[in-house]
Amino acid sequence: MIPARKTRTIHVRDLAIGGDAPIAVQSMAATRTQDVEATLRQVRILEAAGADLIRIAIDSKADVEALRTIRDATDSRLSVDLQENYRLVEQVGPLVDKVRYNPGHLHHHERQKPIRDKVAFLVDQAQRHGCAIRIGVNAGSIAPEYKERFGGDHVGAIAQCALDHCELVDGLGFTDYVVSIKDSDPRLVVDANVRFAEQRPDVPLHLGVTEAGMPPDGVIKTRIAFEQLLSRGLGDTIRVSLTVPFDDKGMEIEVGRQLIDDVRNGRFRSVPPNFFDGLNIIACPSCSRVENERFIELAEDVKKMTTYAAEHDVTIAVMGCRVNGPGETDDADLGLWCGPNYVNLKRGPEEVGAFSYDDILGKLREELDAVIERKAAVS
Ligand code: SF4
Repeated sequence: MIPARKTRTIHVRDLAIGGDAPIAVQSMAATRTQDVEATLRQVRILEAAGADLIRIAIDSKADVEALRTIRDATDSRLSVDLQENYRLVEQVGPLVDKVRYNPGHLHHHERQKPIRDKVAFLVDQAQRHGCAIRIGVNAGSIAPEYKERFGGDHVGAIAQCALDHCELVDGLGFTDYVVSIKDSDPRLVVDANVRFAEQRPDVPLHLGVTEAGMPPDGVIKTRIAFEQLLSRGLGDTIRVSLTVPFDDKGMEIEVGRQLIDDVRNGRFRSVPPNFFDGLNIIACPSCSRVENERFIELAEDVKKMTTYAAEHDVTIAVMGCRVNGPGETDDADLGLWCGPNYVNLKRGPEEVGAFSYDDILGKLREELDAVIERKAAVS
């Protein structure tokens, strides 16, 4: 049930991605990179689960130093996630096999410098160090010019941004890249990836539903997108993002392999038409940027506390850090994002305040009741 894929084949060290290569399954360490011991333990968990590629986030020179130690301790293929500080590619290039940049974060540093020049720098460094690249577009961090151009058409914005960056990278003569276009809504993931692939059937695709959240909903959302895309012959590498405790992180790999096997053998799970009705909890899978170790527990507590509202059409987003938290909660009715000592609470794009980890659930409950009341009044 997985038709022949038409993309070119690229290489991440000895791992082929695209063309007729097996679909690669990858994951990401959900630890603070500078906590080398914890990150290595997470890498071992992912290795034991059979990860083809392991991603680690980098934001500072201290992170790069930690990565150096991690690199020395593992033979796994490593990918690095660059966020705002794209110039760190110069230091991490020699340590990793693949570099992910997010077009939506390139405007933060050196604001006067054209995006084209920043991409040229990334490509040059990747070439020097034999790294592949992922152009990783995310609906939660759309680059300002695309937000302006496409307004509320998120799918149009993220698909066009990916297409434009492919053109930039092509223009630099670099072909060892994949593209990911992610959203927390699996239906939009399908739409954006199909639109992109119609125009660029040659570019290998990394599939993912961002902030899918906790199992079982996180698995179901991922399945909805991957079944639709893999069965169209779209998807060369996948990452299942789940909000799960540290020791269970291997589940992302196990679920990914199971899902590929199910689609290959025609085992599709039907999803009831009302799956998208009612309470929707979006939660990031956590990564090195998570600002407090209590994040996973908080996400689980939010899920438990809100069960009383299961029938109401309300979206709550729970994010682990300030890098993506503020932007990625904008579209939710209520958003939480973690700081080191406080949890920030938002009502849509509006900030409500910052509350201690002990007080946040009570405050969220008050806000949720108010949202339910407001929605009932207008319906
Ligand atoms: S929201 Fe922050 S902590 Fe969560 S996955 Fe994204 S970058 Fe990592």
